[in-house]
Amino acid sequence: MTKGNFPVDKLKGIETPFYYYDMDLLKKTLKIVKEETKKYGFIQHYAIKANANRRILELIASEGFGADCVSGNEVKVAVNAGFPASKIVFAGVGKTDKEINLALDLNIFCFNVESLPELEIINELANKKGKLARVALRINPNVDAHTHEYITTGLNENKFGFAMAHLDEVMEKLKSLKSVKLIGIHFHIGSQIEDVQVFGPLCKRVNELQTYFEEKEVKLEHINLGGGLGIDYENPDACPVPDFAAYFALFNENLKLGDGQIAHFELGRSIVAQSGVLVTRATYVKHGENKTFVIVDAGMTDLIRPALYQAYHKIENVSSGLPLAKYDVVGPICESSDVFAKGCELNETRRGDMLILRSAGAYGEIMASQYNCRELPKPYYSDKI
Ligand SMILES: *Cc1c(COP(=O)(O)O)cnc(C)c1O
Repeated sequence: MTKGNFPVDKLKGIETPFYYYDMDLLKKTLKIVKEETKKYGFIQHYAIKANANRRILELIASEGFGADCVSGNEVKVAVNAGFPASKIVFAGVGKTDKEINLALDLNIFCFNVESLPELEIINELANKKGKLARVALRINPNVDAHTHEYITTGLNENKFGFAMAHLDEVMEKLKSLKSVKLIGIHFHIGSQIEDVQVFGPLCKRVNELQTYFEEKEVKLEHINLGGGLGIDYENPDACPVPDFAAYFALFNENLKLGDGQIAHFELGRSIVAQSGVLVTRATYVKHGENKTFVIVDAGMTDLIRPALYQAYHKIENVSSGLPLAKYDVVGPICESSDVFAKGCELNETRRGDMLILRSAGAYGEIMASQYNCRELPKPYYSDKI
């Protein structure tokens, strides 16, 4: 979907703001991910937190993907949308007893465990149910993802995973925990990683850790590399589908897998981001002292990424073919950070024009809030309008 073929006429009767999803692009993206993972026998668990829309989840589940969840409710939502529990992994530093019990009852594939106390609680709760919980240790590899500090997760200073220095202690502890079974190791170093070369040092660290476990004569069947592949927010038309071929080829080249070992991935953003746009209308065009503001009816409550981490979303006026002009595009929320773009070039904009914020399919709708007592934006789908 580009500005050129965005179906303005079909959507013009719908109250803004809303999300619009290009289901053909999503299908195409899923097909490419499937082809590229199949080449190497890799397994894909879609990261539910990027977009948990029922129709999107149903489509992804029907294509045979597993799910990566970070809360008990995500596990529930995944199962309800058709992901088999046997393909669900569950990460998160703060899993509560309720969430762990739910996942045990559903018999999910694996808990990605992030601390010693969590490991002990999973063992205790599994024991009470007479179950054996499959676990993978989430290890903090201390690899810099070179991304925004709010979305880097694999450095020693971050809260996620076991520190490598504590592994001896963990392995010792595991010997006494009879209701958990160690089946693998897990990593996730950050999100919106644009330079795939960053994953090279991750592979190197994983290979080193593999040697560590071999020396301890611990067999690991599953190596989970997490997600994090970035997308091109600047050029959504030129790069509607991220370069999955290069991403998976890099892992295939750099990762040393043992006999029978399977690599798992948990991509979220790169699968859904380009398929979604936030659709809004200009409520007012306001002339300030030395700039012009386009005040739109969408705000940070509908798409928080710009306010939260200065994220860039390309904005286009799909109603206007007038010459370009410079605007600050802002929302109506009573917060100074409610700004979508500063000094943004748009076709000359009038009140009522429809604007689209591109690449909003990931971490968009799912992060919407009702601050200022606003309504949540609704989703619309290209195959159902
Ligand atoms: C968020 C998250 C992902 C997905 O990250 P993307 O950048 O959206 O690909 C994968 N695994 C874990 C554990 C996560 O928390």
